[in-house]
Amino acid sequence: MQVTEHVHAVKIPFVLEVAPGKRLNRFVYVYLIYEDNSICLIDCGVAGSKEVIFDYIIKTGRSPEEIATAVITHAHPDHIGGGPGIQKAVNCKTAAHIEAVRWIEDTELQFNERPVPGFHELVEGPFKINFLLYDEDRVETGGGKSLTVIYTPGHSKGHISLFYEADNVLFSGDCVPLPGEIPIYEDVFSSIKSLVTLQNIKGMAVLLSSWDEPRYGDSGYEVLKKGLACFQEIHSAVLNERISSRGSDANSLALYVIKTLGLPEIAMNPVFLKTVEAHLQLSRYPNLFEIRDAALR
Ligand SMILES: [Zn+2]
Repeated sequence: MQVTEHVHAVKIPFVLEVAPGKRLNRFVYVYLIYEDNSICLIDCGVAGSKEVIFDYIIKTGRSPEEIATAVITHAHPDHIGGGPGIQKAVNCKTAAHIEAVRWIEDTELQFNERPVPGFHELVEGPFKINFLLYDEDRVETGGGKSLTVIYTPGHSKGHISLFYEADNVLFSGDCVPLPGEIPIYEDVFSSIKSLVTLQNIKGMAVLLSSWDEPRYGDSGYEVLKKGLACFQEIHSAVLNERISSRGSDANSLALYVIKTLGLPEIAMNPVFLKTVEAHLQLSRYPNLFEIRDAALR
């Protein structure tokens, strides 16, 4: 789907086996920036995504060989899974934040440290990152245009968002939670700070998240605002359940939270437990925004 003059979105469906016999239909977006003589790819989807991405490129009259750069927003399986096949096929340069690189170049290390269900079905294997990125770096996309790197950790270490000035498009990866979706992050405060950083971007015409449809104009800012509110909603749910089910283990606490938030029971997995633990670390602070405001003063 063409989103703006230069930016295209490719939706990649996949099935996640969250437990034996329990399968969850998910999707992830990857994005393409079409410059005159080259293509910049944002994220690589899951294992096997190469076919879907290349088919799209060919259907729109371009060639996969034009992919000069692949920029990775973060190291999670649905963003790096198809990387090895793509890099091998077109020999593109790859770029990611320095804190994300170890999990991309050593996927077994990632699996050991974050054992996501179905990991090895989602990830083809490790691949090399050619350019290490830092906050405010610029990544050339071709034709004198570029992406600005915005460091937005919290969902994952080394998570970056990218702003494409030519079309005023913000690529936010996975850092904006969506109401009703499974909230996944490892650091609540970093997540909040990251969203505030994105809210301060002026003139955003389109917000492109990896797990949401394109949001144009004001509705992009609205999604950021609602995403921020999600953190307090989840925080209150965790703290309330902790009080009412005092003494029970983290697992049952997480199950209660899922019920309170009206999330599907399938949300109960090791990754969601990390989110709950991240909130428990801040259990002394019932109002997240009060302390955030104090920290910003
Ligand atoms: Zn992610």
